[in-house]
Amino acid sequence: MKGRCFCGEIQYRLSSPPQEAYYCHCRDCQYLSGSPFHVLAIVKRGSIELISGATSKHQHKTQDGSDMTREFCSKCGTPLFLSSSRFNDIQMFTVNSLDDPEAIKPSFQIWTTSKVSWTEIDPKITSHAHGALAG
Ligand SMILES: [Zn+2]
Ligand SMILES: [Zn+2]
Repeated sequence: MKGRCFCGEIQYRLSSPPQEAYYCHCRDCQYLSGSPFHVLAIVKRGSIELISGATSKHQHKTQDGSDMTREFCSKCGTPLFLSSSRFNDIQMFTVNSLDDPEAIKPSFQIWTTSKVSWTEIDPKITSHAHGALAG
């Protein structure tokens, strides 16, 4: 499975398949995605391999006090990868940076406390008021 940033400077490949995908409605993701939520997928840490380019990194403290590192393209600003000090064996990537975003579908949502009311998400999927997972 492969993906890239908008301008194509950064291209990556996954050496193992993503496990699950989810919507994150936290305020951090709203600011950083420029949209009401991020759609993120989980992969085993170390399975995101860069084919070209190098990411820029931004680190911040999340609401639960852990360190979140977000990687993005410094040329076009596309958000790409996330890793949290809370979860040492997994990493996240933005589903919409995949060449085929249909390859994985979100199965749950987190931080619904800050979900914007005009966003419609399938009410049948599992919802967590806070961060059951990183994002
Ligand atoms: Zn780019
Ligand atoms: Zn989030």
